[in-house]
Amino acid sequence: MFHYEILCFSCKKVFRVYEGTKEYKQFKENKKGIYCCEECSHNIRIEAIKNFFR
Ligand SMILES: [Zn+2]
Repeated sequence: MFHYEILCFSCKKVFRVYEGTKEYKQFKENKKGIYCCEECSHNIRIEAIKNFFR
């Protein structure tokens, strides 16, 4: 199975995206974009929701 190792812009950890996922496709199309791991994107989503209700 193919995968890419991507550096999370938020926690600076390297995470993997596997072939067939949305993230893999995005990375393949734009390797210079900024990406974050699942954990951080989850946290970011929660923060966004919190800010929305503030
Ligand atoms: Zn992260």
